Amino acid sequence: MRLDKDTIIGWLREADEARLAELWREADRVRRERVGDDVHLRGLVEISNHCVRRCGYCGIRADNRKIARYRMTSDEIMGCVREAMVFGYGTVVLQSGEDHGLTRDWIADVVRRIKGETELAVTLSLGERSDEDLEVWRAAGTDRYLLRFETSDRELYGRIHPPLPGRGSDRFAILDRLGSLGYEVGSGVMVGIPGQTYESLARDIELFRSLDLDMIGVGPFIPHPETPLGSTEPSPALLSDEQVPNTEEMTYKVVALARLVCPGSNIPSTTALATLNKAHGRELGLMRGANVVMPNLTPPRYRASYEIYPAKACIDETARTCHICMHGRIASIGRRVGRGPGGRKHAKSPS
Ligand code: SAH
Repeated sequence: MRLDKDTIIGWLREADEARLAELWREADRVRRERVGDDVHLRGLVEISNHCVRRCGYCGIRADNRKIARYRMTSDEIMGCVREAMVFGYGTVVLQSGEDHGLTRDWIADVVRRIKGETELAVTLSLGERSDEDLEVWRAAGTDRYLLRFETSDRELYGRIHPPLPGRGSDRFAILDRLGSLGYEVGSGVMVGIPGQTYESLARDIELFRSLDLDMIGVGPFIPHPETPLGSTEPSPALLSDEQVPNTEEMTYKVVALARLVCPGSNIPSTTALATLNKAHGRELGLMRGANVVMPNLTPPRYRASYEIYPAKACIDETARTCHICMHGRIASIGRRVGRGPGGRKHAKSPS
């Protein structure tokens, strides 16, 4: 299926169930052919919810005074890393708000400790950090970095993601930098941001292809009441025919299209998706293009405070119950748990 922008828009607007079943089938076929039946598990550790940014969508933004802020110690992080080993995961993902209390050297030490004591791949997702930070963390052994561009519509991005005073926010420049430092690079978008049009979401999907991403994470936008975008009153823009809805089905469409434009990429079935459909969201994501899940290893006492959006799936679980639950879900759809780090398998396409 050759997908140009108009074809992508056609799929995003498709409402016919039989036609959509074709899209799911095709995404599942390409997934099986290109990355196989293994579902890779990445243990997620939410290491800090401190954040200097004021993103309009995110519940851990600096202005939210209603959450208790925490920053894990390196021993606490290593405790989670050991659990990842016990559970047979191939990767740990350290994620946080944009927290400059997590200094360059401290993160580099944590990465070196993990690489020294385990065989795990290490992924960082710590927001927009300096070239020097990224360079030092790569040299310390970090394998991958996740930074979603959220939307390619510059005007919308500027509105929902104000830069720090006196600095720009160019996530595409950072993605480029990560690639040249030799990271496997992950990015992605939220689906159904207020003001996001079909046209711009189709451009996002085309960008997945031209950026040749190693990993693509997409989830529905979920309003958080303590944020500027959290109002439940629909604005006139939301009622327009151009507005992408933040629904479960729209998210599956984007997962499936991401698989078709980037057949060899690692694509997670995300927690935000599981939040919209706690019973079957993970499985349906995996059956419509995804090949990765990220079980949560964050210690239970911190989980509720990493509230980027409300009613997050798995909030009351422990690492062990998440682990058992994910295994059950993967087996229930006839797939198997991948072994090893599960990096990108296929050579990058020539650019
Ligand atoms: N500070 C890091 C990690 C942020 S959390 C960063 O900015 O990269 C990871 C992702 O969660 C974000 O990139 C965003 O796409 C998603 N997210 C944040 N708030 C959300 C919300 N209200 N609904 C859905 N997804 C959200």
